[in-house]
Amino acid sequence: MNIQTVMVIGAGQMGSGIAQVCAQAGYHVVLNDMKQEFFERGIASITKNLTRDVEKGRKTAQQKEEILSRITMSLSIEDASKVDIIIEAAVENMEVKQSIFQQLDRIAPEHAILATNTSSLPITEIAAVTNRPEKVIGMHFMNPVPVMQLVEIIRGLATADEVYETVATMTKQLGKTGVEVNDFPGFISNRILLPMINEAIYALYEGVATKEAIDDVMKMGMNHPMGPLTLADFIGLDTCLSIMEILHEGLGDSKYRPCPLLRKYVAAGWLGKKSGRGFYVYE
Ligand code: NAD
Repeated sequence: MNIQTVMVIGAGQMGSGIAQVCAQAGYHVVLNDMKQEFFERGIASITKNLTRDVEKGRKTAQQKEEILSRITMSLSIEDASKVDIIIEAAVENMEVKQSIFQQLDRIAPEHAILATNTSSLPITEIAAVTNRPEKVIGMHFMNPVPVMQLVEIIRGLATADEVYETVATMTKQLGKTGVEVNDFPGFISNRILLPMINEAIYALYEGVATKEAIDDVMKMGMNHPMGPLTLADFIGLDTCLSIMEILHEGLGDSKYRPCPLLRKYVAAGWLGKKSGRGFYVYE
């Protein structure tokens, strides 16, 4: 299938990055959010990234304008009627995603692919509320999208081979590397990353070492660019907890139980960088 127009639902951190890389690759992008101010915040973030690229000589000012001109605003999901693929990047909540997919199934053209950027929710369960589960697929971009190379491409139970191939080709077109994954809790990335972060929180909880020492060991000893507790603050502790809960429930193994200290921080509203305090304090 020849994809020309892409709709991105949600102009937040991830959606704006996905819209940017799609527009850079030459696709027409319809960027949808619930309010104009959310769309504008997304466009402001894209503009900032592109301006930096121009300053560093990675793009010309004309290329920046061409990329921006390929992105149009949408405040209505009905705009899905004109696109070839929809990449949903709204909040990580099953009810919200299922409601969006039900509407997309009604509105989008018959040939359109319905993709989700969920970091942990089952693709098969999202697909089950549509009448086209064979056209539903996971496209899990990494944050920040314009910088990170990987896209996990997740096949739901019913995803058709040609839909997978179309998405794999599009991923290449975006300048990214796709990795094929089957639909299990946490896929590959979060199934491995989050238990490591959770274990680092247990190490802190049990008094094995200070937070700085735990981060230093993983940075200097394992060559990780960022320590696990710093990384947890960046991801958001609420997000970390919700992914651990999905692994715990979905895989049914006590080794995935979220650390009580993680629960306590989230209950206190210490959500990491975004709330000004997590394992570290942010000005
Ligand atoms: P975010 O809160 O920055 O953005 C979400 C956006 O979706 C907001 O602008 C919100 O207004 C909009 N939105 C919510 N409901 C909507 C609806 N019904 N219709 C249209 N827009 C709607 O969140 P984010 O960090 O960009 O995450 C988005 C998705 O990407 C989540 O599923 C998340 O799990 C996934 N994800 C996040 C990361 C990350 O590091 N943040 C990485 C990979 C995947």
